[in-house]
Amino acid sequence: MLNDNKLTDYVVEQVVRLVKTPSLAGHTDAAVGCIEEELTRMGIGHGRTGRGALLATLPGRETGPHRALTAHVDTLGAMVKELGKDGSLSFTSVGGYALATVEGEYVTVETGSGKLLRGTILFDEPSAHVSKKVVDAKREFENMRIRLDAEVRNDKEVAKLGVAVGDYVHFDPRCEVTETGFIKTRHLDDKAGVACLLGALKVLAESGTRPRLTTHFLFSTSEEVGFGASAGIPQEVGELIAVDMGAVGKGQESDEYSVCICAKDSTGPFDYALRQRLVKLCRAQKIPHKVDIYPFYGSDAAVAVRAGLDAVTGLIGPGINASHNLERTHRKALAATVRLVLAYVAGGK
Ligand SMILES: [Zn+2]
Repeated sequence: MLNDNKLTDYVVEQVVRLVKTPSLAGHTDAAVGCIEEELTRMGIGHGRTGRGALLATLPGRETGPHRALTAHVDTLGAMVKELGKDGSLSFTSVGGYALATVEGEYVTVETGSGKLLRGTILFDEPSAHVSKKVVDAKREFENMRIRLDAEVRNDKEVAKLGVAVGDYVHFDPRCEVTETGFIKTRHLDDKAGVACLLGALKVLAESGTRPRLTTHFLFSTSEEVGFGASAGIPQEVGELIAVDMGAVGKGQESDEYSVCICAKDSTGPFDYALRQRLVKLCRAQKIPHKVDIYPFYGSDAAVAVRAGLDAVTGLIGPGINASHNLERTHRKALAATVRLVLAYVAGGK
């Protein structure tokens, strides 16, 4: 079995690889491909669902209702909405975020033919020496633009470059792993969760350990737009745990050094018995953990239940600072999440 530090190094490595691989809803193949590669390397069988999510199943030692863990590989970004008369692009969001969190971000526009063009998201009167509006205007999609790094003066010149309405816009992740153990980057939601599941699967594969009950791992591809795990979870599943971020902030228990166990999100409370079992596992194995409530949060667990999955659900994940913004977590939170996933998979009711 891998030692803890080496395992966390592996998880961090996967986070870095995944956040640097663009994967917006509808266009997640490259990132799903990264996960496929890892599973193949581990010798774990897997397949794609109809919508392109990835499902891997580990047979259990005992018979009983199946379990499932899910994490989503899609992230936040944008799409070209209109070619402006001045050669700039207006855009629409893919996933939900405040415009203030992307103003000034460097982006890559991916054209239909696969050409990659660089640009910057800016307020449409961005120069402090030209307009006072930059100081206090409310940022709205109508007054935000992508400034392309190409010599273009009007919409026709932009079109000549191959840019068109519907082109994907990828934000620079700005990924940095610090010597102090932090991973700061966009898209930790939920690539940190995906990497934690990969870490747990690697331990199981390398140690030849079978889960107690048959366990499915679903890497979903459209959570940020609201329908990630609505399909793909086998009907035999009696318990589903979404591995997604814990929300850190004012008034929250969650922190960047623990696995966070959600008691209630905006869709309501999670199964009480399952939540207590997760807390008990953390206490027994001295896994740093926090129980918390997320007021503006919905995960793939709720999506699966709404779609008709007859199972109890839970939500766990590494604490992420500044979610849907310039996110950050610490390797301690990743390690704690992997440990809880492993304890859960091994354990009984
Ligand atoms: Zn998420």
